[in-house]
Amino acid sequence: MKEILYKSTRSEDGALKASEAILKGLADDGGLFVPIELPELDKSMKELAGMKYQEVAYEVMKLFFTDFTEEELKKCIDKAYDEKFDTEEIAPLAQVKDPYHLELFHGPTIAFKDMALQILPHLLTTSAKKNGVDNEIVILTATSGDTGKAALAGFADVEGTKIIVFYPDGGVSPIQEKQMVTQKGDNTHVVAIKGNFDEAQTGVKNIFNNKELAEEMASKGFQFSSANSINIGRLVPQVAYYVYSYAKLLAEGKIEDGEKINVVVPTGNFGNILAAFYAKNLGTPIDKLICASNENKVLYDFFNTGEYDKNREFILTSSPSMDILISSNLERLIYHATGNDASKNKSFMDDLQSGGKYEITDEMRAKLTDFVGDFADEQETADTIKRIYEDTGYIMDTHTSVARCVYDKYVEKTGDNKATVIASTASPFKFTRAVMNAIDSKYESMEDFELVDELSRIGNIEIPNAIEEIRNADIKHNTKCETEEMENIVKDFLGI
Ligand SMILES: *Cc1c(COP(=O)(O)O)cnc(C)c1O
Repeated sequence: MKEILYKSTRSEDGALKASEAILKGLADDGGLFVPIELPELDKSMKELAGMKYQEVAYEVMKLFFTDFTEEELKKCIDKAYDEKFDTEEIAPLAQVKDPYHLELFHGPTIAFKDMALQILPHLLTTSAKKNGVDNEIVILTATSGDTGKAALAGFADVEGTKIIVFYPDGGVSPIQEKQMVTQKGDNTHVVAIKGNFDEAQTGVKNIFNNKELAEEMASKGFQFSSANSINIGRLVPQVAYYVYSYAKLLAEGKIEDGEKINVVVPTGNFGNILAAFYAKNLGTPIDKLICASNENKVLYDFFNTGEYDKNREFILTSSPSMDILISSNLERLIYHATGNDASKNKSFMDDLQSGGKYEITDEMRAKLTDFVGDFADEQETADTIKRIYEDTGYIMDTHTSVARCVYDKYVEKTGDNKATVIASTASPFKFTRAVMNAIDSKYESMEDFELVDELSRIGNIEIPNAIEEIRNADIKHNTKCETEEMENIVKDFLGI
């Protein structure tokens, strides 16, 4: 098999093996790691159609992580995609009228980030071993809600790792807070900081950049790492479910072999849709990659004008995981659109850093015609949840609804009725209040857990374990601190 090496998007740094790129996370020049050459599938869709999720995941991941042995990679996959998921299919498809909703929310925290964060800890510890690193890996994360819990669930009790999550006190929803502070696992630590999310994030960055601390840590046998969505160890596992969804549609006779499908992705940081782009490049017959935004529609404007401009009001929406003005993973697409020219890409990223915007050339735009950008506003998002529920009985979360709304608009505008896969990124139980209010305003006065029961009843869906668990779970973490104390908290937890 062809060896795939990784380099930075901002310089000629690199030619790193996959395990080295996973361990490093971000390149020294601030760029992201990209495969120097994109691999291609070496199995036909017909062959993949007969495989289980874990087997397809192996066939995809082996193409990117070429320095992992078959045994290493299969071990990582088996530890990640097991009975922590509430269905053997791992990522089932539900046909809701015409399109197929690819349900990526059957993992332990009922959102799609589990698809990557369940496997990342194993990829990281395997990478450490392969590179002779015997330090314990310490993950530090600042979270405004979702990522923190998904990372905690992924790293809990994984040997050779510790994880510390900081969240803004009063800055996450009560359910999100409860999910985090009830986290089990001796290697987990959850801390509320007296500050907002930006302060938490800045505090974490300062700790990462503190050279003295890094040396002290190394002498005691620890090193920091990040579970950030720019790590290729998070991106590549996401490619697998797009390939799997195509194979599954073929296996079920919903499409002919080779027939092109469209994919719609509710987008924030651009990781999930970039994975779909890589799936297409592997040879999956995908036509359009439809990028759905909420009212923070930077990406819609970008795909429609060629200008990326983050200078605008930040809007808090009912789909908070997509409330993002800088989509970090877009950098990888920009790099590819320059014809893999790191210096050109760097000058765009410098413009973004200094003036908050950049404009790509017409030549680059011509390379991005597979992408379609659209958005759904708050009213449309709520209306779509209600309409689809009333028409079909199927209940979507707010993020998925943004994608569904964009899909319906796209079909109406273009008449393009290819079979379509919609990435369904969260369970409706994760955003119960917004979902139930969209269906009927009478739910406004109900308590959180009453709403959970009601959602289960009207949608005829079982309450996921992730929700049931926190109803009566014990509080395991109650540390609070000032932002200035974050470093000491980390040292205390590590006992250094
Ligand atoms: C993170 C997240 C998204 C956005 O995904 P990106 O890869 O950042 O574009 C969408 N929906 C949900 C529920 C998420 O948690």
